[in-house]
Amino acid sequence: MNKKDIIEIGESLYNKGLTVGTSGNISIRTEEGIYITASGTVLGSLKEDDIVLIDFEGQEFENKKASSEKMLHVEIYKQRNDVKAIIHTHPEYLTSFAVCHKTLNAPIMSENIIYFEDIPVAEYAMPSSKQLVENTVKYLKNRDVVMMANHGVIAVGKDLTDAYLKLETAEYYAKVILNTQIIGNPQELSEKDVQDLINLKNQKNKN
Ligand code: 13P
Ligand code: ZN
Repeated sequence: MNKKDIIEIGESLYNKGLTVGTSGNISIRTEEGIYITASGTVLGSLKEDDIVLIDFEGQEFENKKASSEKMLHVEIYKQRNDVKAIIHTHPEYLTSFAVCHKTLNAPIMSENIIYFEDIPVAEYAMPSSKQLVENTVKYLKNRDVVMMANHGVIAVGKDLTDAYLKLETAEYYAKVILNTQIIGNPQELSEKDVQDLINLKNQKNKN
């Protein structure tokens, strides 16, 4: 993965309506350090110059200001060796659930049970604060997507595409949940159906 991959994922986020204005940030872990978007950049139209190399203390190697959420990215990379890419954005539906402090866990779509089990909301803290890092990272110990209260969402993955697909699928899940609430009377899967799906997932992970 390199700067070009970050630029491409930024365009995909924009084309899918998953990013707005100058909100959000993207990073990758590489052998040289962490490449992360500069603060205040538009993710949909990034240039190579908008991507900054930092070390694992959050220190910039060059004279450019890295994302204000750089310590959130750094801490996730420190705690999760398997994570190689991180995307944070403020997409419309997930952010709406984050504002209402509503965990996404309705057992309504088989694919989502296999993919997420749940998407909780980390407690509110000021953007770019130490408290936000603490509140958010603990939820990412055993899952890859978490909403941040009154703010947005963060998704992690083994590469940028993996993180992107999780974010896109999470936003789709949020939309479907909202739609089912508008239509009314959504039919949830039974406990047995849910357990069967979890067993299938565990079996898949073993193979
Ligand atoms: P940056 O532009 O500094 O990355 O901040 C955007 C953001 O979403 C803060 O939470
Ligand atoms: Zn943000």
